[in-house]
Amino acid sequence: MEDNTRNKLGRFYCEQCHGRFDAAGDCPKCPGEPLLDLADEDVRLMLEEMDHAAKTRRFGMLAMVSAVLAVPVFFILSATCSWLLAIPGAALFAGGLATVLSFIFKPKQSAPKLTESEIRFLERPGVEPG
Ligand SMILES: [Zn+2]
Repeated sequence: MEDNTRNKLGRFYCEQCHGRFDAAGDCPKCPGEPLLDLADEDVRLMLEEMDHAAKTRRFGMLAMVSAVLAVPVFFILSATCSWLLAIPGAALFAGGLATVLSFIFKPKQSAPKLTESEIRFLERPGVEPG
């Protein structure tokens, strides 16, 4: 069966504008931005790594913000209830808030979404860049 994704999405990817192009070189839209060859597994892994690192960095930052915001929660709970309740209460608040914030403030995704068939298509032998 022939793959219908042919020519719909280019093999070369611009990290800047997330465009896909058929020809290698610099991005036609972004001056000086070299296109990445998505047929190269290393390139795809690198993009995924970058996204993963960005998510981890973002979550660390949001966890810090949440911890700061949990301080008054701790004091309110320890004043109104008990500090025995305030510690898990504040921890729960910080953890929940960090999770919620990480859903709201998602980092910019670098890697394009590729389906299995698209990767097979990109990796098919006999096609040289350019
Ligand atoms: Zn571009």
